[in-house]
Amino acid sequence: MTTTGPRPLRRLADIAVSELRHVSEKRATALAQMGIETVFDLITTYPRRYVDRTRQVDLSDLNVGEEIAIFAEVSKITSRRAQSGKAMVEATVSDGTDTIKIVFFNQVWRERQLSSGTQAMFFGKVTEYRGARQMTNPVVDVIVGASGVERDPSRVGRVVPIYPASGKAGFTSWEIGGFVEESLRRAGELSDPLDELLRQRNDLVTRSVAFTGIHAPSDLADVPPARRRLVFDEFLRLQLLLALRRSRIEREALGIQHAISPADLDIPPGGLSDDSHPLVHRFLAGHRFELTGAQRRALTAIFTDLASPRPMHRLLQGDVGSGKTVVALTAMLAVVDGGHQAALMAPTEVLAEQHVASLRADLEGLTIADPRVLGGVRPVNVQLLAGKLKAPERRRAIESISRGDVDIVVGTHALITDDVKFRSLGLVVIDEQHRFGVEQRSALRDKGRESSGALRDPDLLVMTATPIPRTAALVLFGDLDSTILDELPSGRRPITTAWAKSADDEAVAWAKVRSEVAAGHRAFVVCPLVEGSEKIEAASAVAERDRLASHELSGLNVGLLHGQMKDVEKEMTMERFRRGDLDVLVATTVIEVGVDIPEATVMIIEDAWRFGIAQLHQLRGRVGRSSLESFCYLFGEPSTPDGTTRLEALVASHDGFYLAEVDLELRGEGTLLGARQRGRSDLKLASLARDGELLTLARDVANQLVESSVNLADFPELVEELRLFIDEEEAAFLFKS
Ligand code: ADP
Ligand code: MG
Repeated sequence: MTTTGPRPLRRLADIAVSELRHVSEKRATALAQMGIETVFDLITTYPRRYVDRTRQVDLSDLNVGEEIAIFAEVSKITSRRAQSGKAMVEATVSDGTDTIKIVFFNQVWRERQLSSGTQAMFFGKVTEYRGARQMTNPVVDVIVGASGVERDPSRVGRVVPIYPASGKAGFTSWEIGGFVEESLRRAGELSDPLDELLRQRNDLVTRSVAFTGIHAPSDLADVPPARRRLVFDEFLRLQLLLALRRSRIEREALGIQHAISPADLDIPPGGLSDDSHPLVHRFLAGHRFELTGAQRRALTAIFTDLASPRPMHRLLQGDVGSGKTVVALTAMLAVVDGGHQAALMAPTEVLAEQHVASLRADLEGLTIADPRVLGGVRPVNVQLLAGKLKAPERRRAIESISRGDVDIVVGTHALITDDVKFRSLGLVVIDEQHRFGVEQRSALRDKGRESSGALRDPDLLVMTATPIPRTAALVLFGDLDSTILDELPSGRRPITTAWAKSADDEAVAWAKVRSEVAAGHRAFVVCPLVEGSEKIEAASAVAERDRLASHELSGLNVGLLHGQMKDVEKEMTMERFRRGDLDVLVATTVIEVGVDIPEATVMIIEDAWRFGIAQLHQLRGRVGRSSLESFCYLFGEPSTPDGTTRLEALVASHDGFYLAEVDLELRGEGTLLGARQRGRSDLKLASLARDGELLTLARDVANQLVESSVNLADFPELVEELRLFIDEEEAAFLFKS
């Protein structure tokens, strides 16, 4: 560790923790279990919270009955059996002003944890026992361990950082703090990749100040500015990677320049059209509805992308029912008209099949020119590529795709990894997916290029199932251009949503199912989410269907849909429900996304509070898909405050963007981003719900830096840092000159 001058943060990742004074091999192994292998990992392990010792109450001032936190040192600890027979550990603790007793029942291990000399925080209620004050079973945070060399009380300043201590690996907060402190000391002054002007303009302290402020604040007021800088850095790294990816693609990827123009969209249903017109024109002229303004705006952007020589990378966000499918279909037709193929990928086979059925219906009668066939024209061909195809069927399908006889291929996400060769893949649409990460999109791009014909990148359109908060979109889809469908097809009526809290409310809901069915409409009943396996869930759905069919819904045709059914069975059930042979469909969340049955007007969701907000919103989106008035009843009594908040939010709002924000606030970003997202690993301190402003700031700065300096050549230190978070392949792609 001999460097002169300030040291780049990146260098700390080259120093193994075992090089620290107090880290033995055994401890290094234990730290590795916590994901801490280098000094960089250590100093980016941040305190969970802080204790300001100047605000501590002296033991001499404790009042009986108070809930309080005290900081004290253990002077004596003994264990014995209480009269009740319980194991009892009794500690005497003092803080220089006074002494009290702390008693633990059935926690024998406390005797080891709190050996004499240990300093700790104790949170609990002060009680009185035989005239003396004591605390029973308090929450304990060991701050200074009693053992050996690392016990250096001079380290306990005014503000004590509390680290996420790992019980399993056996580290106290104090020990981790010791490692961090040594790391910081040996790291010395850190260099700062952001110049002073940029820091000043954005109100950012230097890196050195930030790391000191977060780990060793002399005052609690040091923490917020430190945190601001470190969160900014996390976001900046993430946004730099996204900006680099974008600029790389913009600079060099070769797309297909489709011969189309937004003017092809200028035709209302019933408009004049003949075979001389482009396919899109003919399709829209013959379609059963007019595009909404939002759909047109989205398609104008998409067509502009398609006509440009750069490959499109676009995100289409729209609330449930906003009509994303027809946007995708129109874009696919535009590409097909030029002799290319399109692939549509759905998250499930049920949805892939539904897409095939509805695309075929929508495309009926449409033909395209094909000089290879007799007469020079043939119908537009849509092909399903799903796991259920039998081997010979599949082989035939793959052959027609590679010959170019198929125009639109529909499948699940496995489609692109399969051994499918396209004759000329021009457009890939990913439907209803937001866990399809940046890496998978890269893989897709490579695969698509191979099968696009002339080594061109196919255009890419990603559609999300439900809106996601703006901040999350910046993290997940920051490398894509984005379009929002902010308008529902006209004539939609808000779904009347009620939370049925009593048996009477529930009876009203079942009566509504009957009256809607009597009016020729259909109903969904969503079964409670069952923890465990899909099998157990399926079994409970079967039972629920039988119960309902002989009680609340007796006399109606009640069908069943769950994940354990065979694909053909699922398909048949959906078809019967679609046709109206079934009045009610009792289902698990297999119906969550995409299912489109306009006559469905009532939904009952049992134990609704068990579902997440996004899921409830998706489920509810299965009704209200036409101009018919629709109803959604949420059943169940939440057992958590969050559950109540979720149901109240659903009753109060239909706005997917609003609900997504509520969701983010309730759950944090973890679930949204998914643990596998690589960018995630760098977001240790940042919170998407709280730090939206910093994220936007970081994005602007990232864009400026990447625009001002090709490959970030003027910022070698930042480049080195970024390499920590990507693999070599990705680095080669982003930084090759
Ligand atoms: P989502 O965005 O949830 O995927 P869909 O594409 O499934 O929505 O569309 C929802 C329903 O609205 C479908 O029945 C579709 O046919 C209908 N729809 C879409 N666009 C329009 C429109 N412009 N006018 C009338 N109905 C529309
Ligand atoms: Mg859809």
